[in-house]
Amino acid sequence: MRNMAPVKDLLGRRLRDLRVSVTDRCNFRCQYCMPLAVFGPGFRFLPRPELLTFEEIAEVALAATDLGVRKVRLTGGEPLLRRDLPVLVGMLARIPGLEDLALTTNGFLLARQASELARAGLKRVTVSLDSIDPQVFRLMNGVGLPIEPVLEGIDAAARAGLGPVKLNAVVRRGLNDDGILDLADFARRGGHVLRLIEYMDVGESHGWRMEEVVPSAEVLRVLSQRWPLEPVDQGPTQAVARTYSYRDGGGEVGVISSVTVPFCSTCGRLRLTADGHLHTCLFSASGHDLKSVIRAGATREELGREMGGLWSRRVDRYSELRSQRQDLPGRRPKPEMSYLGG
Ligand code: SAM
Ligand code: SF4
Ligand code: SF4
Repeated sequence: MRNMAPVKDLLGRRLRDLRVSVTDRCNFRCQYCMPLAVFGPGFRFLPRPELLTFEEIAEVALAATDLGVRKVRLTGGEPLLRRDLPVLVGMLARIPGLEDLALTTNGFLLARQASELARAGLKRVTVSLDSIDPQVFRLMNGVGLPIEPVLEGIDAAARAGLGPVKLNAVVRRGLNDDGILDLADFARRGGHVLRLIEYMDVGESHGWRMEEVVPSAEVLRVLSQRWPLEPVDQGPTQAVARTYSYRDGGGEVGVISSVTVPFCSTCGRLRLTADGHLHTCLFSASGHDLKSVIRAGATREELGREMGGLWSRRVDRYSELRSQRQDLPGRRPKPEMSYLGG
């Protein structure tokens, strides 16, 4: 199965990226992801033996490269809570054919780990930062944690060569939408690339309402009134973010319009949960149990066949169908973002 042709799904989309959630736990309780009311002290996270080991994750990544995957992103929960993460990074960095290895983190524990992660072979970091206002930041992370360690983490990542650091902000009406310009100003001054994300209806725990989504068109209007923007020609890439450059040379900014301009037609992401389930869409109600296959002793070829078979049957395009889907009778609950890894 090695060096086989890239696998395509039933809508002709190639498998390109693997997102690996290494834990479902988090030190934050962002309201749009793990609201404290649901993820409180009584919440039952995955027991340790259920988590894939680093060796198992590396086996999946290896098999994924046979199917055309060139990029792996580590996520969670909060991936920096997983002990010895640099060891996993080192194992993945040695996989031939993997061109890009990235991490998405809330940044709170990044300052002390950035250089070790970079030395282990991590290429890029995305830090989620919804507001640069210390009070709004405390409110949005749900547990009142301060912003300073995150800012130190961003600096440390840039110094360690993991930049330009991408900063992801989920914009939620009435909460942080009045802080877009301050965030953009912070990113411009630090040489970081801000990406403003529409609030999505992933999971069931946050009580998502369309009225709280700030459409990217509105975000771009606000930004361009202050700093004129120009769309960047992204060529035939299948990036999820639409990128703009500041005409004054202040770098780039992106928007991710998952709700108002869905990008399902180019979506090539496969998600592996911390307990070894594959999800072919952020909104797929159930995952495909790969852990049992791995723990039954599957070879690299067998794993590849299992994953390739799943991908080749894929028809997901939830966001394109969102408006028709919301109220379908018999609709099954969607898995949570902290489990899927975003
Ligand atoms: N804990 C890490 C972090 O926050 O970066 C990684 C996991 S988190 C689930 C990955 C990304 O999902 C974050 O950038 C977060 O802002 C985003 N996210 C979580 N819930 C979301 C929602 N309802 N809509 C849009 N993005 C969301
Ligand atoms: Fe944790 Fe990230 Fe979810 Fe916030 S978005 S609760 S930091 S997993
Ligand atoms: Fe991909 Fe599913 Fe999101 Fe569409 S809704 S872009 S198929 S993850």
